[in-house]
Parts: sequence; structure tokens; C-alpha cells
Amino acid sequence: MNMISASLQEICAVFGSPVAGNPTQYMMEKAFAHHGLDWRYLTLEVAPDGLANAVRGMRAMGFRGANITKPHKVAVVELLDRLTDAAALMGAVNCVTREEDALVGENTDGKGFMQSLCGMADAAGKRVVLLGAGGAARAIGVELALAGAAAIEVVNRTGQRGQQLVDLLNAKVQVPATLTVWQGDYRLPAETDILINATSIGLNDPDARVPVRWSGSAARLVVADVVASPPDTCFLREAKDHGATTLDGLGMIVHQAAIAFRLWTGIEPDLGIMREAVEEFVAL
Ligand code: NDP
Repeated sequence: MNMISASLQEICAVFGSPVAGNPTQYMMEKAFAHHGLDWRYLTLEVAPDGLANAVRGMRAMGFRGANITKPHKVAVVELLDRLTDAAALMGAVNCVTREEDALVGENTDGKGFMQSLCGMADAAGKRVVLLGAGGAARAIGVELALAGAAAIEVVNRTGQRGQQLVDLLNAKVQVPATLTVWQGDYRLPAETDILINATSIGLNDPDARVPVRWSGSAARLVVADVVASPPDTCFLREAKDHGATTLDGLGMIVHQAAIAFRLWTGIEPDLGIMREAVEEFVAL
């Protein structure tokens, strides 16, 4: 396909710090090319004190959209014109779309996770244990509640952060949520249906162990990890050894990026191309 065009290319970007190693550009560029779009995607290192200027630059240069990653997902909120309901509930944005002159913030992390999960389990009526209470856990917790989970047990090392998520879930999305402050091995309740590692344990360390004591009934569990690099985490290997059905973090990355692609381009992306790209990227 001839990718040379006389008109200006549309620009999208990711803002983060440190952002090197983020796989989104690789996935998006493969998807743009596959769908015949002469678009560009930039990976931009933006320090916290440069975020406001970066968003001004995005407006001035007419970027079509941006992904927002660590540490900017909360700070970006006040720089935007509007938020979707989910982003407002979470108080965090990972995807910005330009709609005419307005910048609209969405949070696709939780939706990406849910779309990845739905091939394996329906969250409605299920008892969920959510390990972690950071940005990924908040996004997933809200979407699980909106999908009708019966109960969510938040397990977090830092009690105060865990309690903030439990309060959000109980008050704003009306799911019965409780907190366990994590000390030593967390003993998994036998009645759990879905177990999710939404901590950063395992990121860049395939042997890092998530301290969980598996119950005898682990074979009935769906166990998911948000960590995508590497995707074959110690947590998922232990879950498989206990007979559980497992879901790696690559599915979440692909689906959250696909939502952004759809929002920016209006085109339904080929998920296979995006999955292949991210697998290729993490193997580099
Ligand atoms: P945050 O820093 O916001 O939260 C990190 C969480 O991990 C906190 O709950 C923290 O607990 C917990 N944690 C970290 N280290 C430990 C430890 N040694 N023991 C117990 N708990 C620990 O990070 P995010 O929520 O933004 O990201 C979490 C993970 O999700 C990362 O690996 C990230 O790469 C991944 N991610 C994956 C996505 C995907 O598409 N697959 C999308 C977004 C994120 P405490 O509060 O006590 O510090």
C-alpha cells in the first residue's frame, strides 16, 4: 500500500515517564498500517511538571488522541474538557480523544480487562478477589461492579489505599466490597470464582511470587494477571499448577488499545494483528 500522502497525517501519542518500553506505539502502528491509515503514533517522555504543557501542545497541534500512562493518569483529569462516566468514577484517565475542540478523557483499562475476561468468564454474580488497589485495580474493580459481580474482596498491602478502593466500590457502584490488609500469604477463600492480580508484582520479573496460599478448590477458579511483561508470570504458572483456568495481561493490553483505536479512528481494529504485534514486542 502507498503510505505517502499529500495531506497531513493524523497524530496520536502516549505521554508517560518513564515511557520507554511501552508497547502501544508498536501495536498502533501495525494496526494503522493494516487498516490503510496514514497515521502516526509517538511515544513521548513527559515529566510530571511538563504534563500541562504537553496537553496544551496536543491541543495546539491537533493530535487526534493520546494514551496517558504512569504517572499522569490522575493528574491529567483536570487538564481535560470532559470525562466519561467511568473515568469520572475512577478519577483517572488513560485515553484522551479529541472531539472537535474538546479533549475527552476515558478509562479503557477496566473495559479492556473485562473484554479480555469475557471469553472465559461472565463476572455477573461472581465472587471476586482483587489483589492490589492501584490504578489498574481501581479501573478493574469499577468495571467488575458495573458488570454485576456479587462481591469483591480487595487485598492490598497498604490499608489506606485498599480502603479508598473499597469505599469507592461500596458507595459509587454499589457492590459489596471488603478489605483484607495483605500480610504474609493471603489465604484464598474456597468460594472465590475469579482471582485477579492487579499489583505490579511480576512486572519485569518472571520469578516474582505473588504471596497467595491456594485453596483446595482452585481448579474452579478463573485466574487473571494484569502484568503483561512478561506474560508468563509466576502467579499464572502457580495458578495453572493448581488446575485453574488462566488469563494473561496481554489480552487486557490488546483490548484497551483496541478501544482507543476505535475511539480515535471510528474503525473496528483487527484484534489478531494487535495481539500478534504485542506478542512480538514483548519477545523483543
Ligand atoms: P500502581 O502503582 O497504581 O499500583 C500498584 C499496586 O501493586 C498497589 O496496590 C501496590 O500496593 C501493589 N504492590 C506493588 N508491589 C507490591 C508488593 N511487593 N507486595 C504487595 N503489593 C504490591 O500501579 P498500576 O495499578 O498502574 O499498575 C499495576 C500493574 O498493572 C503494573 O504491572 C502495570 O504494568 C499493569 N497494567 C497492565 C495493563 C494491561 O493492559 N495489561 C494496564 C495497566 C496496568 P500498595 O498500595 O501497598 O503500594
